[in-house]
Order: sequence, then C-alpha cells, then structure tokens
Amino acid sequence: MNCLRCNSPMYAEVYDHISETQGQGFPAMHCLMCGDIVDPVILKHRQARVEPRGERARLAVVTATS
Ligand SMILES: [Zn+2]
Repeated sequence: MNCLRCNSPMYAEVYDHISETQGQGFPAMHCLMCGDIVDPVILKHRQARVEPRGERARLAVVTATS
C-alpha cells in the first residue's frame, strides 16, 4: 500500500504496542519518507473518530461551560 500522507511506498514491520497488544507483535505499515506508521490500532481509532459520537461530546462540553 502507499502512504496516506505522501503516497510513498510503505514497508511492513512488526510492532509491539505496550498498552494494546502487550507481548504480541502485530504487523504495521511504515513510511520511510514521512515516518508515518499505520497499524491496526490506529486504523481502529481513526474509524471510531468518524462516528458522530464525537460531535455530541463536543456539544456537551460547550453547553457545560456556557
Ligand atoms: Zn508518508
């Protein structure tokens, strides 16, 4: 696959995320041009951020402080 930032070829590497996959390596893609790393955890967070839940959370904060 190509990098989502700079569209350069990405290289597969194995990472060990301390808090999410303790002791278990998992494959991730690393861009040597801009240093971006895409792993399953990051992709999961990005997909979660698209959900409208974040919009409601921000609205709740605004009403609480006003
Ligand atoms: Zn890149």
